[in-house]
Amino acid sequence: MTSAHRESVTVRVPAKVNLRLAVGPPRADGYHDLVNVFHAVSLYDEVSAMPSESFSVRVEGESAAEVPLDDENLAVRAARALAAHAGVPYGADLLIRKTIPVAGGMAGGSADAAAALVACAALWGLGLPREELMEVAAGIGSDVPFALFGGTAVGTGRGERLVAAPAGARLHWVFALADGGLSAGRVYAECDRLRAASGERPELSGAADDMLAALASGDAKAVGAAMINDLEPAALSLMPELARTLDAGRDLGALGAVVSGSGPTCAFLAADAAEAEALAAGLRRAGVCRAAVTAHGPVPGASIVPASGEA
Ligand code: ATP
Repeated sequence: MTSAHRESVTVRVPAKVNLRLAVGPPRADGYHDLVNVFHAVSLYDEVSAMPSESFSVRVEGESAAEVPLDDENLAVRAARALAAHAGVPYGADLLIRKTIPVAGGMAGGSADAAAALVACAALWGLGLPREELMEVAAGIGSDVPFALFGGTAVGTGRGERLVAAPAGARLHWVFALADGGLSAGRVYAECDRLRAASGERPELSGAADDMLAALASGDAKAVGAAMINDLEPAALSLMPELARTLDAGRDLGALGAVVSGSGPTCAFLAADAAEAEALAAGLRRAGVCRAAVTAHGPVPGASIVPASGEA
């Protein structure tokens, strides 16, 4: 029996937070050069792939109604791209169980794409090396390779060229989820607009150095102090109420507080798991977010969940 006859494959994939996001000026192709310290956290989506002659997707869970069910779905795009890359005639029925907030700046769509690649590669018995999957991933979106890679890593180029960073100590997080989402494209455009107005000239060289030194030291306080997101002013300009959320987290003793990626999720670093729970409870009481969830990192990238009996 080939593994193309497996009944289903389920993959668990983490969300990311950007420990440091430095954004260069817009390039001729519309993208921005980045220096992006990615960190995978224990907030997971699950993607199951079942054999089919065509491609389809269903979505359950967190804000499922906001996720497209056609070829715009990044998981479907990934599965189609993989079939074309490998030259196989198979399709897949995909089921996404979402926990990662949609349009929340935690790369949930990219995570689902990475999970679909791993699930379909196994379902179809492709036996592709990880590096080849990473190339297909980069063709789908800048954040997709990191969702395969996991851990903590520095991304350059559009963020897709990855080098592992020192793992450092386990970090404890609180994520404050907002009502509604922010489009990453709008946030980048607002960043460009604010910089044009102020004359600010971004500098990428050495942008990750402080964060990498902090990670290597294993000192969460130093990591908190080095957390900087160049997109934060733009996210705050588009959603000014996020300033209250960040301030509330700082007042509650967070070691670091930033908007995650293009927002609007806010990320807070805590000293340990108990402090993270207390911080999340404080944020809920303060009424400055839709929900507050705790997580830890770094965690591995997209991984197959063993079927019962296989573990
Ligand atoms: P990033 O951090 O990479 O900017 P994000 O976390 O802000 O991304 P996503 O949740 O990845 O945002 O979704 C952005 C948009 O992509 C959504 O508004 C949705 O329309 C679309 N989308 C396509 N496929 C998916 C998917 N599988 N899950 C979530 N959104 C998806």
